[in-house]
Amino acid sequence: MAKSPETEHPVPAIGYASRDESGVLSPFKFSRRATGEKDVRFKVLYCGICHSDLHMAKNEWGFTTYPVVPGHEIVGEVTEVGSKVTKFKVGDKVGVGCMVGSCRSCDNCSNDLENYCPSQILTYSSKYYDGTLTYGGYSDTMVSDEHFVVRWPENLPLDSGAPLLCAGITTYSPLVYFGLNKPGMNIGVVGLGGLGDVAVKMAKAFGTKVTVISTSLKKKQEAIDKLGVDAFLVSSDEEQMKGAMSTLDGIIDTVSAEHPIMPLISLLKSHGKLIMVGAPNKPLELSVFPLLVGRKLIAGSGIGGMKETQDMLDFAAEKGITADVELIPIDYVNTAMERLLKSDVKYRFVIDVAKSLKA
Ligand SMILES: [Zn+2]
Ligand SMILES: [Zn+2]
Repeated sequence: MAKSPETEHPVPAIGYASRDESGVLSPFKFSRRATGEKDVRFKVLYCGICHSDLHMAKNEWGFTTYPVVPGHEIVGEVTEVGSKVTKFKVGDKVGVGCMVGSCRSCDNCSNDLENYCPSQILTYSSKYYDGTLTYGGYSDTMVSDEHFVVRWPENLPLDSGAPLLCAGITTYSPLVYFGLNKPGMNIGVVGLGGLGDVAVKMAKAFGTKVTVISTSLKKKQEAIDKLGVDAFLVSSDEEQMKGAMSTLDGIIDTVSAEHPIMPLISLLKSHGKLIMVGAPNKPLELSVFPLLVGRKLIAGSGIGGMKETQDMLDFAAEKGITADVELIPIDYVNTAMERLLKSDVKYRFVIDVAKSLKA
């Protein structure tokens, strides 16, 4: 007989789990493995709420294994390290993002691109090497192989920095890889939510001029006053969009809902790049002709490798980049999910796990 989540491992843990497609999260007792030779165990302090958590809690992408304890923007303090751990010691502040394992030997893994490993193990609702289910950061304790743990920079806030582990690397990686990080470039960011907020800050920190493209005027003043964006386009305003044709070197599209992309392509200069980092669950409409005229490129990008995630955190610390967050207790998580669904948050919820989750 298969062991229950509560007894399959030796270390007791408590978290919040969704048990079915309702996505409703409630207290859940489970267990974590003993600290292996290369493992780092840590007390979870803060965990961001990513839109993926919501999709996964409700099985909207079709690959959730229940019960699911979401959370992949996890920051904590090391409580125990295995005998062969070299990078961390007890008391260190650390982070775990979207993955906790990979094959470590394929081409991608050999090139610090564990995020593109076909055997990548996600932080939650994924099968670990030992065949047991992985559980995320809406929980009191975490354990991870040190390779998938990042060092937390000293001057980076733990709470508002947590979202960088997903939102930060998701936007930093394509800006760097596609060369959209040169000072003076014109970069567009589509959608000003959890990802968009950080995308703007990353792009600004690289010295580019940033244009936000949004469906409504609602966030314009704030984007200009607080985020310092250089221009703001309302995508439904044809005149505005026309006026901005062929002005952008690149666009980071963070929108996960179905939306038209042809108007975005027309905003690009020749050789401009449209990079998709959101994940709409229906196909988007693409007419090829506008790509040929101007040799434009559309690409996707998914989080980043472990080395790059560390680089990104160090860059964020140096440039003072954090997410705008609303700190919540864990028993508020279902309300937070409802509000997230309505985009009623500026711009990321972060759970104060250590203060609000009691065994
Ligand atoms: Zn995420
Ligand atoms: Zn691999």
